[in-house]
Amino acid sequence: MTAAVIDGKAFAADLRARVGELAVAFEAKAGRKAGLAVVLVGEDPASQVYVRSKGKSTVEAGMNSFEHKLPADTSETDLLAVVEQLNADPAVDGILVQLPLPRHIDEQKVIAAINPDKDVDGFHVTNAGRLAVGQPGFVPCTPLGCLMLLKDRLGDLSGLDAVVIGRSNIVGKPMAQLLIAESCTVTVAHSRTKNLPEVVKRADIVVAAVGSPEMVKGDWIKPGATVIDVGINRVAAAEAGKTRLVGDVDYASAAQVASAITPVPGGVGPMTIAVLLRNALVAAYRSAGLELAADAI
Ligand code: NDP
Repeated sequence: MTAAVIDGKAFAADLRARVGELAVAFEAKAGRKAGLAVVLVGEDPASQVYVRSKGKSTVEAGMNSFEHKLPADTSETDLLAVVEQLNADPAVDGILVQLPLPRHIDEQKVIAAINPDKDVDGFHVTNAGRLAVGQPGFVPCTPLGCLMLLKDRLGDLSGLDAVVIGRSNIVGKPMAQLLIAESCTVTVAHSRTKNLPEVVKRADIVVAAVGSPEMVKGDWIKPGATVIDVGINRVAAAEAGKTRLVGDVDYASAAQVASAITPVPGGVGPMTIAVLLRNALVAAYRSAGLELAADAI
């Protein structure tokens, strides 16, 4: 068997197009564009690329992008003041503070300062709590993107066995919560899990969010399972001096066993920004008190 490839790039493009249409409708109804503010502290090259790409995508989706680039030596107090100013700004529906922050700044304190109704990353403890108890809030973009791909592929997930490898606050834990809400039977594995291959073998759905290149092998996978590979790992390529991206799953062997699998790159990666735009638009509809059908995006 060779697994079907779950095309996250195509799904993300479609999602972005739908967000774009709803952004036009929002502007017509609200008399203003939806707005997403992104705050970057320092000059980390990867963060700079992400922030640029988020800004460009926001504008392409018909929303206003407000970029706040602050020097690396910005004090925590000054950053908190920027967050407060964005909380109070009615043109700003969503706020994203790019992580990681420089070491002298307490990330948790900054996340806690964001108005939870503008927290489009879904990292605020209020949004984690809302997800845990099933109230509407904001869900972190990467796991929500994974869930969208799973539902698109499998339809109803009810009763399926799911194993999430990884228990971070931004991927593993919210992924597990989302799957519980879909009535899956969920196991969360991590670095202390015993007999990980056997645990994974039970799963109809495997979500790998570890950060360990090609760790999950094909012979760990139950035949016919659906595999979502969140990992983004840069490794040396065959050609000297070059690198390539691989996931947390050994794609070649897993694709022989799974019924469907996300590739890296082109699987989960493109979903993250698309879901961010989706969350920003939902924030705008909510803040303007406008209806947005539950199945609209
Ligand atoms: P973290 O480092 O925060 O968490 C990794 C998790 O994997 C931890 O819970 C850790 O366990 C667990 N783990 C580590 N080693 C093992 C092991 N040998 N066996 C089982 N579990 C293990 O990472 P993130 O959740 O932030 O990210 C995970 C991966 O997803 C990374 O490759 C990252 O680059 C990628 N990523 C991709 C995104 C995208 O847009 N596609 C977005 C976000 C992340 P423990 O808790 O016990 O330490």
